[in-house]
Amino acid sequence: MQNKRAVIVGGSVGGLFAGNYLCRRNWDVEILETAPESLASRGQGIARHAELEDLLDLLDVPRGMSGGIDVSGRTAFDRTGAIISQFELDQQLCAWNQVYLSLLDLFPRAQYHGGNIFAGMETTGGVTTVRTTEGRTFEADVVIGADGFRSGVRQIVAPEIQPEYAGYVAWRGTTPESDLSETFRVDIFSHYAFLFMSGSQLIGYPIDGPDGSQLPGERRYTYLWYHPASEEKLADILTDASGKTHEYGIAPHLMRPEHLKTVRENARREMPANFHEAVMRAESTTVQPIYDVDNDHLAFGNVALIGDAAFVARPHVGVGVLKAGQDALALANALADCDSIPEAMARYEAERLPAGKRALNHARNLGAFIQRGLDSPTDDPSLNLPLERIIRVSGRPVEHVIEQGL
Ligand SMILES: Cc1cc2nc3c(=O)[nH]c(=O)nc-3n(C[C@H](O)[C@H](O)[C@H](O)COP(=O)(O)OP(=O)(O)OC[C@H]3O[C@@H](n4cnc5c(N)ncnc54)[C@H](O)[C@@H]3O)c2cc1C
Repeated sequence: MQNKRAVIVGGSVGGLFAGNYLCRRNWDVEILETAPESLASRGQGIARHAELEDLLDLLDVPRGMSGGIDVSGRTAFDRTGAIISQFELDQQLCAWNQVYLSLLDLFPRAQYHGGNIFAGMETTGGVTTVRTTEGRTFEADVVIGADGFRSGVRQIVAPEIQPEYAGYVAWRGTTPESDLSETFRVDIFSHYAFLFMSGSQLIGYPIDGPDGSQLPGERRYTYLWYHPASEEKLADILTDASGKTHEYGIAPHLMRPEHLKTVRENARREMPANFHEAVMRAESTTVQPIYDVDNDHLAFGNVALIGDAAFVARPHVGVGVLKAGQDALALANALADCDSIPEAMARYEAERLPAGKRALNHARNLGAFIQRGLDSPTDDPSLNLPLERIIRVSGRPVEHVIEQGL
């Protein structure tokens, strides 16, 4: 009997998780990815959760091969730079590309089509023909949209769903450990740090070095600084030197230098001195406009949405990679276990829709004070966000928060 065929649009972590799981279930899989080159040089840091290790274990990724720096707790700093709260929690943080590369290495090269941009699809008799902008076609029994928050697949199956801008951005940057001062390395580097300033919040933590090294001196420090930006301000940030405004996001090399200068000036003005160099010395600064993507369906005939194409929960929850992997596993299991594709799609949606909604709502709550222009999350008690609670419930799956009654 002929194997079932899947075409996956998007070759980042979500697409690669799905591709690898389906290959292990004897599906013939083709992945289409816009980027012609590896994505490994991009990305900053992610929180690694035990659940992510479990997902990688299922693919036999040797533990430790995909990187990770151990930290033993979370620390809240106030706007003067003083420690105001600490919480013990063993966890790992790593560079995004360590997970990406582990997944890419496992996937058959000949079936990964970089530089192939999804252009559309038509279904006849249960078989979908997927077209690329270059005129190539691929036939599929199932199409998986793993093409991120601006998903072109979603545009076709659910055009009414659009990313909603939350009114703030995350500035992100990463600094080699060796470029940081002795003081920073002693006082800040090893903390999973939450810095609370007026109307904004920074999260910083150590990650692996560019080559995956976890050795002292070869690691890096990454930060993510949530900062308000009106629609007009955002449009300006996303406008390059030629006057072109890039909708939704701008590549770092196109960002006008004046914006980088402003971020550094803001850091000097708004941050306590002990955190300045996380921003000042970062060698790769990017801006991520914060969007929500809500959704009521994940399956549309033989088309499924996974990862950020399905839902985007703001980075406060730190589960983007994990959620994409969990979606991919749930879909692959449903396709392997069910007698028919419609049955599998229904099971996948029933399983993963509630999880997506939970993550989305938790993340909205954590970011609400920045969105609403409040000075501090404690200004509105109905948010239930004392600073001690924020460091417990951020950067982890909402299921932990619910199970542990946090
Ligand atoms: C280069 C890169 C770096 C990242 N770095 C971080 C990080 O440091 N920290 C973090 O928390 N999250 C990071 N993310 C986001 C993170 O991967 C996602 O939030 C989450 O893991 C869900 O992954 P995803 O695969 O669903 O979506 P994404 O990771 O957004 O991947 C979507 C993929 O689809 C491709 N694509 C889009 N449109 C088309 C099309 N028409 N045809 C073919 N391919 C298409 C994109 O090029 C992209 O590779 C990064 C994403 C990318 C792409």
